[in-house]
Amino acid sequence: MSGSGVAPPAPTARDVWRARVRIRDLIRRTPLLSAPELAAPHGVWIKDETRQLTGAFKIRGAANALRSLSPEVRARGVVAVSTGNHGRAVGEVARQLGVPAAVFVSRRVPADKLAALRATGAEVVVGGESQDEAEDIAREHVRQHGSTLLPPFDHPDVIAGQGTLGAELLDDLPEVHTVLVPLSGGGLIAGVALALKAIDPQIRVIGVSMEAGAAMHASLRAGRVIEMPEADTLADSLQGGLGRDNRYTFRAVRELVDDAVLVSEDELAEAMRHAFTHHRMILEGGGAAGLAAVLAGRVPLEGPTVAIASGGNVAAGAFARILAGGTRPDDTGVEPTR
Ligand SMILES: *Cc1c(COP(=O)(O)O)cnc(C)c1O
Repeated sequence: MSGSGVAPPAPTARDVWRARVRIRDLIRRTPLLSAPELAAPHGVWIKDETRQLTGAFKIRGAANALRSLSPEVRARGVVAVSTGNHGRAVGEVARQLGVPAAVFVSRRVPADKLAALRATGAEVVVGGESQDEAEDIAREHVRQHGSTLLPPFDHPDVIAGQGTLGAELLDDLPEVHTVLVPLSGGGLIAGVALALKAIDPQIRVIGVSMEAGAAMHASLRAGRVIEMPEADTLADSLQGGLGRDNRYTFRAVRELVDDAVLVSEDELAEAMRHAFTHHRMILEGGGAAGLAAVLAGRVPLEGPTVAIASGGNVAAGAFARILAGGTRPDDTGVEPTR
């Protein structure tokens, strides 16, 4: 992960099951809630990852990546470039394991997100005008200090860690037929698909992204990694590209995932309202994508279906405006960051 040496091999389903044991004491086993109000003939369930300690599933991948480092490497510290759920996850796991952590963010990151990052105990380093510039600064830091950069999705240990969510689904709902996964860089869906397809390749795994600026969706259609301009969206945690030299997730998603669909901003907002009204669940825009696809009829409900509610980190004011009927990002004050 330090950027030197040979790239490690792609993760396997066995790596997912190894991760389960490795991270057991660092993550929460989250509930699978039935959604009878949807009156789907075979049932719909919501996997509630908002209940993780950092409010999103990303703590699974961060925990597995950190635990996989040798004690000597760990002692030199870990680094993340993120303004959101990945940064919080790395900060939290590093604190629990007593590993020094630094999270690099650009000057454009809003104060509430900085506060959430600092609350984990991580050192927060503000610099650069964009996420890319912050990453350049982080890479220089890693070169100087011999610390380890933990990527948000494109690493075997991160993918295997996220896959533990898929293994939990099989425990709780062995009859699962279709799983809807919020999709950005593809670490979550790659891990979940690895776990599920190892048990039964017929289980359908479908990625859901927002219409505005979905880089993985566009790349799948094009058959190669393409860059997309960032757009304003409620699903700020689904923004961002696949990285210039994507090694693992694009390929894994192409090979394992059955379909990728898009949802509109209105549909995301509707799903956030639905989760609150029927389940008293607070979802961030990105976390609502799977449920939005169900509500919008974007996928056939041919068997028992699970929508992964991937995260709930939304600012209180923004959430209140959506509950009151707002949709557009400028109704909500949501900042386009990841
Ligand atoms: C990061 C994130 C995603 C997307 O995960 P990828 O592994 O990048 O596809 C979905 N939902 C939430 C809440 C996230 O934080």
